[in-house]
Amino acid sequence: AKKRKANSYNVFSPEMERTSFKNFELQNDLHKALLNDEFELYYQPKVLSNKRQIVGAEALIRWNHSTRGLVSPGEFIPLAEESGLIVPIGEWVLENVCKQIKAWEESGYPRLEVSLNFSALQMLQKGLVDTVKAILEKYQVEGKSLEIEITESLILNDDGDLLKKLEDLKDLGIRIAIDDFGTGYSSMSYLTKYKFNTIKLDRSFIKDIHTSTDSQAITKFIIQLSNQLKMKVVAEGVELEEQFSLLLEMNCDEIQGYLISKPLPVHQFEQLGRFSSFI
Ligand code: C2E
Ligand code: CA
Ligand code: CA
Ligand code: CA
Repeated sequence: AKKRKANSYNVFSPEMERTSFKNFELQNDLHKALLNDEFELYYQPKVLSNKRQIVGAEALIRWNHSTRGLVSPGEFIPLAEESGLIVPIGEWVLENVCKQIKAWEESGYPRLEVSLNFSALQMLQKGLVDTVKAILEKYQVEGKSLEIEITESLILNDDGDLLKKLEDLKDLGIRIAIDDFGTGYSSMSYLTKYKFNTIKLDRSFIKDIHTSTDSQAITKFIIQLSNQLKMKVVAEGVELEEQFSLLLEMNCDEIQGYLISKPLPVHQFEQLGRFSSFI
């Protein structure tokens, strides 16, 4: 896990001093953000690569800070992880995703599989599975509507309970995805121990597939591997038509990226052609 000291003042440059002071302030404000209802979920569609039909969405958190405006998760999630606030924030995300799924169901939208990101610290909580179960029951949502994305860093920090937890979550019908695949500097042998439903190919590979034969080869290899291990493969960060058609040729299952749509607030997401083929 990443460890940074937000409160260390042995800084070396005014620039670093500013950053660390800003983080210190953000850290304080994070405590109030949940109470003040400053978080919001954006949704980014995932489409089938053959049909370009929306089959799912990834929920991504946004923080509407009272004075700073929109703060990106890249900035505040690491701080929330440091302070442990990621646990209640993660629960807020899960609750709101379930609430949203229920609302879509009630207004007659076709079923979507919604993915959400779980931090390592959140996943390591003892009562995690019970919490998830309780929230599913509270909103009367089926587990199969949900996919939980975790990263390789969690596997490196496995305290011995992870396998059981993942199996318990899968027993609830929830699918498990490995996010940012290939960026965690760990060996791939963990794929034999933990049976993931989905691999999310990191944007760092996709970024250059149309210009670099190396990136192309790695991407092709990961897609073949996923197919053989019977996992679904989703490419993230697809921005260009060229990348899209290469991925199509390589038999990638699903596509997510700015080419289709940026993450959107709910009401805008709902405008995307009522989740049908919209392109
Ligand atoms: P991630 O899970 O890898 O999410 C994908 C990120 O890539 C998102 O950034 C998304 O907006 C961005 N993205 C999607 N398509 C494209 C594209 O075509 N081009 C480019 N350049 N970027 C694209 P975002 O929303 O800023 O989130 C950043 C990270 O923050 C996420 O990376 C995830 O690790 C974390 N995060 C976001 N929401 C949550 C949450 O609810 N809980 C937790 N624990 N982490 C979250
Ligand atoms: Ca993700
Ligand atoms: Ca990712
Ligand atoms: Ca990422």
